[in-house]
Amino acid sequence: MFAIQNCLICRQLSETLICRYCQVDIPLFQQQQKPINLLLWPEIKRGLGQVNFDQIYALADYRWPLNQLLTGLKFQGRLPHAKALAELFVSHALGADFNRPQAIVPMPLHNNRFLERKYNQSIILGKHLQSLMGIPLLTDTLIKSKATLAQSGLSAAKRRANVKHAFALSKTASRSLDVLQHIALFDDVITTGATANSAYTCLASAFPHLQIQVWSICLTLTRR
Ligand SMILES: [Zn+2]
Repeated sequence: MFAIQNCLICRQLSETLICRYCQVDIPLFQQQQKPINLLLWPEIKRGLGQVNFDQIYALADYRWPLNQLLTGLKFQGRLPHAKALAELFVSHALGADFNRPQAIVPMPLHNNRFLERKYNQSIILGKHLQSLMGIPLLTDTLIKSKATLAQSGLSAAKRRANVKHAFALSKTASRSLDVLQHIALFDDVITTGATANSAYTCLASAFPHLQIQVWSICLTLTRR
């Protein structure tokens, strides 16, 4: 027996968090029969600009209805949105034969932002990814050491400067990461890739042996 609830998008009664009608309406990247690694899409590579990572997996462009689910999670504490988004990500963003990472590192928030919001949406989403995929979530390796300005409204160059050297590693990071070969760095939304690139560079320069995929629920860059 499934519990009956209201679909998170259309509010009609549904056995799943997002009803089957809304599920087929979501414009996912992978409905387009292109490579699962989005960095192989010229329009996405162009939108990201200069990044050091070479693999990015995401569910869809940042628009309705996923942008609304993400905003509800991030700013209104709508926690059931995280489970629905993580389920969609696992079923549609990674492909059938993707190279499975050994751990997921969520994008950290600076302490000031965390105290203001009381939770980190990337950790909440990451916990669902952990339980759906059985891949450990490492919340204590990467630290946001610099309190950066909000990236929205800044030019691409200013975004890069804003997040440069914004990350550091925890004292226990090498205990977790020295023994791994392959991880995923996870953020809820990627816009220019500047934040992801800065976090990636922090991890990759300390652990050059690591293969690092970048995962994100949505990308905003295809609209620019
Ligand atoms: Zn629906």
